[in-house]
Amino acid sequence: MKIKFCGAAEGVTGSCHLVTAGTGESPVRILLDCGELQGGKTAEERNRESFPFDPADVDFVILSHAHIDHCGRLPLLVKRGYEGRIFCTEATADLLGIMLRDGAHIHEKEAEWKTRKALRAGKPPAEPLYTTADAEEALRHLAPVRYGEVVEAAGGARFVFKDAGHILGSAVVELWAADATGERKIVFSGDLGQSGRPMLEDPTLIESADCVIMESTYGNRNHEYRENSDKTLADIFIDTSERGGTIVIPSFAVGRAQDLIYELNELYENDPYYSKKLKDVNIYLDSPMAIDATEVFKRNAMLFDKEYKEKVESGDDPLDFMNMQFTKSTDESKALNESDEPKVIVSASGMCEAGRIRHHLKHHLWRGRDAVVFVGYQAAGTLGRYILDGAKTVKLFGEEIYVNARIYDLQGFSAHADHDGLMAWAGGFKRKPEHFFLVHGELQAKKDLARDIEEEIGIRPTVVERISEFAI
Ligand SMILES: [Zn+2]
Repeated sequence: MKIKFCGAAEGVTGSCHLVTAGTGESPVRILLDCGELQGGKTAEERNRESFPFDPADVDFVILSHAHIDHCGRLPLLVKRGYEGRIFCTEATADLLGIMLRDGAHIHEKEAEWKTRKALRAGKPPAEPLYTTADAEEALRHLAPVRYGEVVEAAGGARFVFKDAGHILGSAVVELWAADATGERKIVFSGDLGQSGRPMLEDPTLIESADCVIMESTYGNRNHEYRENSDKTLADIFIDTSERGGTIVIPSFAVGRAQDLIYELNELYENDPYYSKKLKDVNIYLDSPMAIDATEVFKRNAMLFDKEYKEKVESGDDPLDFMNMQFTKSTDESKALNESDEPKVIVSASGMCEAGRIRHHLKHHLWRGRDAVVFVGYQAAGTLGRYILDGAKTVKLFGEEIYVNARIYDLQGFSAHADHDGLMAWAGGFKRKPEHFFLVHGELQAKKDLARDIEEEIGIRPTVVERISEFAI
């Protein structure tokens, strides 16, 4: 049996792994995720490259969750000849419609803009990475299944999804496949959530595997302010609004945005101190995709933890409160930057690579009284990472923008398990896996995590460094 790491091998984005089982005459090829690379021009070019396998040869796809760096190249996979089913949890299928249609829209807009520029320079028009029609075609291949349901797929392979606690619908995959030497169990972590976070269940620990593929985004870092990140954020709101400033929060539209609303709902409605202090500070969720995703969250309330369900049963909507405003139209979005009221703007994309957030950054980054608060991981090469790393100026819409706003980094909101969380998950295996691969992290994070897993758990992980294939 073989595993080929086709993405999230060098960095954090582009998750894509190919398992080849079966026998020489009748191989079974199983693709785990098919994500987009994120982070600047090189990522954009690499997304267009051909896959290191023939999409027509893949028997089925198992998708861990709906984040674009895990699902964003599915439309391309289908366009380039994949004909099978794309298995995912029901909630992931629900979110995927939003994600892929939005992705297509962004790629089409970008291509339009580049084409105008290209034609003026006498160059050929730009092609979108995938179109709305491609996204719709990919969605027709979805095969939603429930957590815990054992699915018998092609070539005698079977799999089951367990809750990964990362975002709504996210899953750890347990996969059984056989070749001439017998059956093996492969466990793919997908992205792992952080234990004890609001709304979501804790990531499921898996007790046995022959081979593990594990993410390592925060392989060498622990989240600070884990306990009080909500209050730290509210204090930034108070401090900035008292100066008459605006707070801009780049956020993933799916997951992080709802997480924020949930925690702010708690402070605005149930905390006597903050509800009084923040009564005049409105929060604008300025992302049509995040607003649609919030509706999907409400529909799937039964997947959330006990506390969330209790709130819903008591008649409270945990994802809405008095000061929460949802801005859908472009006009409403523009109006936000014309008004002077102290306010919070939550907008996507989370790493500032596309979407309305770029307009808000253009309007607010240069103002000393304003604040930009990062609440999620910023991959290398993204605009978010440049700002976080202390860039003095950034380029937005062809204009040089001075970075003068206060920049905050609140990783306590992260949907990813931190170093200790990853160690706890790796330590959950009672029988030591024969193979243990670390992917989905920057090189140093993977190396540091590998060292700690070896020293403390006694498993020696392989650090995946590039697109590469291993026999298991
Ligand atoms: Zn994710």
